[in-house]
Amino acid sequence: MSERVARLPTAESGSFDWLIVGAGFAGSVLAERIASQRGEKVLVIDRREHIAGNAYDHLDAAGVLIHRYGPHIFHTNSEQIFAYLSNFTAWRFYEHRVLAQVRSPRTGEDMLVPMPINLDTVNRLYGLSLTEDEVEGWMASRAERVETVRTSEDVVVGKVGRELYELFFRGYTRKQWALDPSELDRSVTARVPTRTNRDDRYFTDCFQFMPRDGYTAMFRKILAHPNVTVRTGMDFREARKRFSFRRLIWTGPVDEYFGFRFGKLPYRSLTFRHETLDREWALPTGTVNHPAESTPFTRVSEYKWMTGQQHPKTSVTYEFPSAEGDPYYPIPRPENAALYKRYEALADAERDTWFVGRLATYRYYNMDQVVGQALATFERIQKAVPQEAANDDAARVKRAGA
Ligand SMILES: Cc1cc2nc3c(=O)[nH]c(=O)nc-3n(C[C@H](O)[C@H](O)[C@H](O)COP(=O)(O)OP(=O)(O)OC[C@H]3O[C@@H](n4cnc5c(N)ncnc54)[C@H](O)[C@@H]3O)c2cc1C
Repeated sequence: MSERVARLPTAESGSFDWLIVGAGFAGSVLAERIASQRGEKVLVIDRREHIAGNAYDHLDAAGVLIHRYGPHIFHTNSEQIFAYLSNFTAWRFYEHRVLAQVRSPRTGEDMLVPMPINLDTVNRLYGLSLTEDEVEGWMASRAERVETVRTSEDVVVGKVGRELYELFFRGYTRKQWALDPSELDRSVTARVPTRTNRDDRYFTDCFQFMPRDGYTAMFRKILAHPNVTVRTGMDFREARKRFSFRRLIWTGPVDEYFGFRFGKLPYRSLTFRHETLDREWALPTGTVNHPAESTPFTRVSEYKWMTGQQHPKTSVTYEFPSAEGDPYYPIPRPENAALYKRYEALADAERDTWFVGRLATYRYYNMDQVVGQALATFERIQKAVPQEAANDDAARVKRAGA
């Protein structure tokens, strides 16, 4: 940190109280808090050409609003997080629904059935007419006895049995992670619920809304404070040469910050295939999952369901899991968690630097969780850097530069 302070007077392109690396949710929310609540000057940079991080949306060539990094659906149980974001956007009510295309064990034909598995999924697949009370017993009768639940496979076969596991989870997981569910920690599928009622919503959170004018428009407002300067298309290495700053918020990959000194933290990536179709609608719902291993993509999503946009054409995105590419999903294996712990120890010891967001904490977080993490980090900053001390610092730096 002292190194950064020493460089302050010779900066070519201005000095800031804070440099924030990454203009996604983590970086943007912190920029807004620091600028509006502490009155300090913040520079936000992102090496991508745009703000909003992975939530970035834009009009495609046909004028349809799409999400460049795959469909992002906002949902939260936190009133505080929803209220905070409501300062920057109006909302559109939207409850996401997913269908899975699977081969019926009864007829051998492909069917579209609700996902997560619910009463209708079972009844349609097996030609049954079970009631809510009966389906639980039906699932229990097919569930396998698992002494100790350790892996993702154990979770699912212990709940719904091997046939449904193979239809819905095995292929999807193998594609998504390039690992068999038997090799993956139980936490990975613990998040995938099964239901005995007919609720076919993908999420059950209290607040399920999309930003009315899109995510990028919301980020523009979050970053609109006069104390915030934004530079896109700029990497940290360039920014630290050109600008001076006293404190740093890092929302990029934690291993990159430390020069990968213990090795790279493993991630799974995705390739997106965006398509515009010359018809008004493409899918019967927002997302169709393709769990079969024989299909190379995992899911396809149609944005107009989410955005409510009216347009004579429609755009969809196919997601192909891949080993190479942008880091999207930390691979949940014990050895990776142990590697992250080593980086975390370095991060904890780094003075005047805060590590926030999904990449900096090597965790899969939903958007609302990252907003929550950023708001909590702001509270920690308030305690760790009292305003008075910050102002004293500012005075000292000014004197040094005078
Ligand atoms: C395919 C997919 C679908 C998702 N769908 C949902 C969903 O439906 N609902 C939901 O709640 N969440 C969803 N998420 C999760 C969501 O994307 C994250 O919660 C959110 O983007 C995290 O914000 P962040 O600020 O931590 O990271 P990011 O949005 O990734 O922002 C970090 C930014 O830092 C920049 N950066 C990194 N290193 C540097 C550097 N050295 N110099 C300059 N800039 C740098 C990056 O370019 C990036 O823009 C999804 C994620 C994926 C991958």
